[in-house]
Amino acid sequence: MTPNSQILEQKKIDNLNLFDASSKTEYQNSIHKTTEYVLGFLDNSKFYSGATVSELRDKKRIISVSSDETLTLDEALKDIKELYLDHAISFHNTSYVAHLNCPILIPALVGDLIATAVNTAVETWDQSTSATLIEQEIINWISGEFQLPHTSDGVFTNGGTQSNFMALLMARDHYAYQNFGINIKENGLNEIVSKFRFFCSEKAHFSIQKNAALLGMGYQSVIKVKADSDYKMDPEALLLAIEREKQLGNIPIAVVATTGTTDFGSFDPVEIISKIAKDYKMWLHVDGAYGGCYILTDTHKHLLEGAKFADSITVDFHKTLFQPVCSSAFLVADKSNFKYVSHYADYLNPIETKDDEYQNLIVKSVQTTRRFDALKLWFTLKITGKKKLAEYLEMVHYKAIEAHSILGNDAAFETIHKPQLSTVVFRYKAQGIADDKIHDTVNLYIKNTLFKSGEASVASTKLNGNIYLKFTLLNPKITTEDIQHIVSLMKQKGDEYQKSN
Ligand SMILES: *Cc1c(COP(=O)(O)O)cnc(C)c1O
Repeated sequence: MTPNSQILEQKKIDNLNLFDASSKTEYQNSIHKTTEYVLGFLDNSKFYSGATVSELRDKKRIISVSSDETLTLDEALKDIKELYLDHAISFHNTSYVAHLNCPILIPALVGDLIATAVNTAVETWDQSTSATLIEQEIINWISGEFQLPHTSDGVFTNGGTQSNFMALLMARDHYAYQNFGINIKENGLNEIVSKFRFFCSEKAHFSIQKNAALLGMGYQSVIKVKADSDYKMDPEALLLAIEREKQLGNIPIAVVATTGTTDFGSFDPVEIISKIAKDYKMWLHVDGAYGGCYILTDTHKHLLEGAKFADSITVDFHKTLFQPVCSSAFLVADKSNFKYVSHYADYLNPIETKDDEYQNLIVKSVQTTRRFDALKLWFTLKITGKKKLAEYLEMVHYKAIEAHSILGNDAAFETIHKPQLSTVVFRYKAQGIADDKIHDTVNLYIKNTLFKSGEASVASTKLNGNIYLKFTLLNPKITTEDIQHIVSLMKQKGDEYQKSN
């Protein structure tokens, strides 16, 4: 015996939890047991238990992973119920109307179950085979819905933030290469890049600024353009802003049009903006993280018509297509632009294989190892189908209009916009009080006490420096009574604050 084989002999491991042909029964039993706990989560009656931060922090024994003792599956499941499943936020609960978290579809869960078990990494053909074809098909499908040209292509990302990152990066590198012959990928940032300017509406998502900073260009590279009274980018203001930056010696390189702003659901006028972008030879990115999926609807399709002129598009399926996180896509009108992110690694996709018939999706992604997120959507499109998805989306839009009218007909509330998508921004207005600071305090009180009680979750945002409340309606099952109930809870809390102060 060699010394090494002696070690191996002593170290024999039994009862390994690896997933393979020898552990089918263990897998099946484990999933079966786990499913019971997941179903238990669905039985939580409130969207949140209302546990305080310290109550959860106090579960130290369960949180800790430092012990050498191991648990049985049953013990671990019991623990995770106590620590997490009993206190997790239920996005499917109709009293959850806070953020852009949608309820999810069973076909999507089935897709995720398979994707996780098979564990395909969509990088190179030799890791992903037909998964490559499925992702590509979904990309082609959504690009077709947007009527992007035949030169278009796209890739799945982990969310709108990453998709927007890719858009800004491509816009910058393309502009630098096209106009100055500067190869940023090879040589890094050049002096002139500090003069590059991105334009977006003042209501655009924060990830535009954050990504500009991550790209080494700073917040200063993002020019926020005034929005009109409907919270859409004002094209006149865009023109003025572009001209102003040029006069300052800066270089306008890209415009981001948001189709569905996070707070107001407003759609920037993409078609008009696309003409301006074209005139100034700027890149046009359409951020459809929230509203992009409405391309499937009859109610909003026309608002996304101009997206076919975009150089790139962000669309989030985990926001508005009832998909579990993550599920998002980045689309680009001219696929040759993927060269700005592609890299050829000797051990994965050597340059010699560049033009092989095998597709290596890694050349389009900023990630390396990447989940097979497209499978969830494949199941959804096959089983639920595009038509029903569109109906759900239209439904939540109508629910938002209904919520707006319930709030608008109630003297205790002030509404400030007509819902264009599925959000409603409003505030509670205590009678006879003029000071906005007091209104801010009352509205935060309403939001925080409702959350703590686990009765309803509403979001808050700021408008002109003041606090407003927000409903984000993404559950097609929410009823008029559900909305009325949340409204009456908010009123109760508002009155309660007034009485005690
Ligand atoms: C949510 C959102 C994003 C960010 O998307 P994530 O998937 O959360 O990264 C970007 N843009 C808009 C308009 C959004 O609403």
